[in-house]
Amino acid sequence: MYPGDAEFGFELLVCRWAEAAWPPGESSDAVARGSADSRTASEDDVEHGSTGNWVKSSDAVLVARQLGTKRRRWDTIVIECDPAGLAARAQFGERELDSDLLHIVRNAPAEWAWYRDALPYPGYPWRYVRAAVHRAAGRGVVEKRRKGNRIEIRRIAPYPDWVRRIVAIENKPDLDASAARALSGQLTRDVETALADEVWVATHATDNRVEPALLEDVPVEVGILAFSFDASAPGDEWADATVEWHPSDVTPADAEADEDRRTTRLELAERAYGSGWRSYHDTMRPDCRHFELRRFGRALVPHCAAKGRPQTAAECAGSCPDFEPEPPVWRTGEWPIAGGPGKGIKRLLRDRRGWVREREYANEGTDRDSE
Ligand code: SF4
Repeated sequence: MYPGDAEFGFELLVCRWAEAAWPPGESSDAVARGSADSRTASEDDVEHGSTGNWVKSSDAVLVARQLGTKRRRWDTIVIECDPAGLAARAQFGERELDSDLLHIVRNAPAEWAWYRDALPYPGYPWRYVRAAVHRAAGRGVVEKRRKGNRIEIRRIAPYPDWVRRIVAIENKPDLDASAARALSGQLTRDVETALADEVWVATHATDNRVEPALLEDVPVEVGILAFSFDASAPGDEWADATVEWHPSDVTPADAEADEDRRTTRLELAERAYGSGWRSYHDTMRPDCRHFELRRFGRALVPHCAAKGRPQTAAECAGSCPDFEPEPPVWRTGEWPIAGGPGKGIKRLLRDRRGWVREREYANEGTDRDSE
């Protein structure tokens, strides 16, 4: 099972699994879907690309959760990256570059130039661009100097082309036929808008084969991944992911020429880079004396000592009736993982995010390790 039997716990385990084991293994027992398409996805499909451009083993992988656009938020996002590009991206710091900063960093010239000459007109007043130039220089992601009454900029390095593919995963641990029907419209839009290159639904494995009704309700381009977790299983066996249906690559043919799509995807990737999937500490209350991190297989997941179970992200808030601030004395020492203090937990989760980034570009995505 998974912590708390709640979608939140399931989602964290899927993120941890993706970080360690993406892409999903080729499965020969993936089933055929839809009356018109009776083929069974096979290893040949994978090898020859008819199920999409599967991630190369040399790709680095970044995982984030609850990211998207104004209209659509995905549970889990996997960014498949060029390892060298990811390493080059690190020159611009650990925090995300928002859309204003990206506009400057991507277009900053190699030699000093007035910012209005160097940057394409962004479609909003230049005074906002000037403010963003100051912000970018303050973050050290671009150089600036004043020449007369003009502000000139110069890049610190070319902004790298580090994003290869974006994969969106919808987590539905209890994906029965009615849940699949409810999800169907959303997934169809995901396929049509094609902001992600590939779309999956992750569900909890049951003893039954995937129901035909379920398969008919999920668009044929969407992959289905069935998970079973065992916290006490040794090593990599804590998570078992079976491909029940291989997805199709939904990248549009004119993707390279679509600058709006490229920009939106880059903004999404930057947010994933900045937040990772352990950023739940920003919205939960690790400063509560009952907040703990507990090991589940190779993952660390939140646990509430007061409730005696894993808490959801929504209930772990200042409004929680069991909330108690951690004692001040906890803030003075180096506390272990369980039992606080909040600052130690936040630091631990932040350190893991940084460590994963460094591992991905240093080891070219092939040496993924335990949490
Ligand atoms: S008592 Fe409430 S606020 Fe404290 S850890 Fe548990 S769920 Fe979170």
